[in-house]
Amino acid sequence: MNQSREGLLLVVSGPAGVGKGTIDGILLERHGNIKLSVSATTRKPRPGEIDGVHYFFIDEDRFKSMNVFNMHYYGTPRTYVEQELKAGHDVLLEIDVQGAMRVKKAYPDAVLVFIAPPSMSALKERLIGRNTETPEQIEKRFATAYDEVRMMDRYDYIVVNDVLDIAVSRMEHIIQAEKCRATRNQALIKEFAGGKE
Ligand code: ADP
Ligand code: 5GP
Repeated sequence: MNQSREGLLLVVSGPAGVGKGTIDGILLERHGNIKLSVSATTRKPRPGEIDGVHYFFIDEDRFKSMNVFNMHYYGTPRTYVEQELKAGHDVLLEIDVQGAMRVKKAYPDAVLVFIAPPSMSALKERLIGRNTETPEQIEKRFATAYDEVRMMDRYDYIVVNDVLDIAVSRMEHIIQAEKCRATRNQALIKEFAGGKE
């Protein structure tokens, strides 16, 4: 049930391998009102990744507004996000720290959630266990992870992904609480202020 009328812009960040995709996948499956913003990227698809589902895989020439990460470009289609929010859907952006800060500037109402690993060693195990990158890529991503976790204090919420179900439940509680914020329920406030019976 959607209490507030405007959709929630939910930004999820965290180091590679922390479980963002896994958590977001469960949220999307459980809650039809949540829509994933599919980013565009210039990197090649990993095994199992589908064009238009995980990313729009495009070449560099097609890029206008660019976010640089690891030699590749990533970008969020703005029109899609705005349309969905207006339609009352919640929109999930899975983006990096720099991107999250840009979104917060453009949309101060956005809710920023940082997914943290239970420990750096657990993170490394997950990254290796996922088996989607070469050892060199894993090392690179793991080195970047140290910089990323230092930025978690800039987020509105921190969700530790220790036990998957509990992490998902933390996300659901954040969404519910944010929807109950008085500032997000202006229409309701006005209705009652108008002496509605
Ligand atoms: P990200 O999208 O953040 O890069 P993924 O969702 O691909 O991370 O998860 C990385 C790996 O960790 C996957 O193999 C996933 O199954 C596993 N994983 C996710 N959450 C947990 C968890 N709470 N406990 C153990 N393993 C997890
Ligand atoms: P991956 O290559 O593992 O899919 O993603 C690498 C990083 O880029 C992740 O931190 C991911 O969240 C981030 N990312 C994905 N799409 C976007 C986007 O549109 N903008 C920004 N700034 N980062 C993105």
